[in-house]
Amino acid sequence: MSGIGENGADFLVVANRLPVDLERLPDGTQRWKHSPGGLVSALEPFLRTHSGAWIGWPGVADAEVEAFEEAGLQLHPVRLSADEVQDYYEGFSNGTLWPLYHDVVAPPAFHRHWWNAYTRVNQRFADATAKVAAQGATVWVQDYQLQLVPAMLREQRPDLKIGFFLHIPFPPVELFMQLPWRTEIIRGLLGADLVGFHRPGGAQNFLWLARRLVGLEPSRGAVGVRTRPGVVQVGDRTVRVGAFPISIDSAGLDALARKKDVQARAKQIRSDLGNPKKILLGVDRLDYTKGIDVRLRALHELLENGRIDPEDVAMVQLATPSRERVEHYKQMRGDIEQIVGRINGEFARVGRPVVHYLHQSVDREELAAFMSAADVMVVTPVRDGMNLVCKEYVATRYDLGGSLVLSEFAGAAAELTSAYLVNPHDLDGVKNALESALTIDPAEGRRRMRALRRQVLTHDVDRWARSFLEALGTQTAI
Ligand code: UDP
Repeated sequence: MSGIGENGADFLVVANRLPVDLERLPDGTQRWKHSPGGLVSALEPFLRTHSGAWIGWPGVADAEVEAFEEAGLQLHPVRLSADEVQDYYEGFSNGTLWPLYHDVVAPPAFHRHWWNAYTRVNQRFADATAKVAAQGATVWVQDYQLQLVPAMLREQRPDLKIGFFLHIPFPPVELFMQLPWRTEIIRGLLGADLVGFHRPGGAQNFLWLARRLVGLEPSRGAVGVRTRPGVVQVGDRTVRVGAFPISIDSAGLDALARKKDVQARAKQIRSDLGNPKKILLGVDRLDYTKGIDVRLRALHELLENGRIDPEDVAMVQLATPSRERVEHYKQMRGDIEQIVGRINGEFARVGRPVVHYLHQSVDREELAAFMSAADVMVVTPVRDGMNLVCKEYVATRYDLGGSLVLSEFAGAAAELTSAYLVNPHDLDGVKNALESALTIDPAEGRRRMRALRRQVLTHDVDRWARSFLEALGTQTAI
């Protein structure tokens, strides 16, 4: 790692988190830990061929860290105080916007001091970006934590090309209208040249709101906001709006799953589970949107009704710890653990639980092994922007084995139409789908998996990033 040069960056990513996490060690020292998510690897080619910079929070409150350069990428940490982590991040982002944008599956809380912190922190991100962007640079702002940044940035730097992508669903207009600061958010997003969503429905909702909240506002009538499909005219600026469904590093995961040691580990997992006839798998952040309870309840009833023999199946639920300080998450964790306990209490025998629940995070290789071992992957969110786990499962199944049960309310359902699609609110429907997936004729299973793989392998995260940046008008040839 070295210092930063004088020249500004010409391709910048602005995200709540940096691609590295700051870790505080017990002896008081700190170090950087790499946390390369899908976004980093997708943007890697662009970051490498441009003078790239990443602006984000290092994940620890009150961290005093200077900007630094690593592997040709400038990293610019944005400092958040402990109060700001509480009010901007846990509060407005995860206590207001997250539930509001996920169809109000939990009640959003509206607090003015949360909103004030959100505004203040968004301004800080915009200021930091304005300072390091070269003349005419491309800036790609990511996700719901930073919706005010595009307009705040344009205000200071009209020369920049600004894109915004929302990684979570954009809600129906009736729900969005609950937000006391709805107009400010829409105005914030309209600062971008391109606003991207996963699904066309999100783009349509946004267009409607832009017309309703900004275009028809009498006191601002002179601004003249007009919309037509895919385009908002804001004065003399044109804002493009569209759907860009995100994906995964499909080829990378396919290659990982083919590795001998991953396959050996998958075999080991099957054997550790007692070599049951069928293994069901769930992999989620422990979040109330993921419908973990839905699949457990369905399994419970199938066992109760005698439609599944507990001797034949084992279910593994990997639940990554998440947002553990937020009250709603504590409650949900309790509920889920109670159902797991109940299923095992009623249907397990000594040394042979039915549900193996791990409140832990696992690495990519281990995840690929679990996915390779699973006969049925169960993905039942009540709302999910995209859901990458289901695409990852498909990418690992080069053997054309395994079945996918997938909620219609995940963005991925629009692409993965050969999965067993279910309405997670319809418990009987989920039970039927689980049963069908568990008893599928192998030829039919292969046919479905082949169709799923065709989609996932041809629509990877590279293609996603490229199509967004091309729509933004950025030179993507590398
Ligand atoms: N993941 C992981 N380890 C785990 C559980 C999940 O690395 O123990 C990864 C998973 O492979 C996927 C991401 O976390 O890439 C979850 O993305 P998704 O869109 O499915 O859900 P999100 O958590 O973003 O709502």
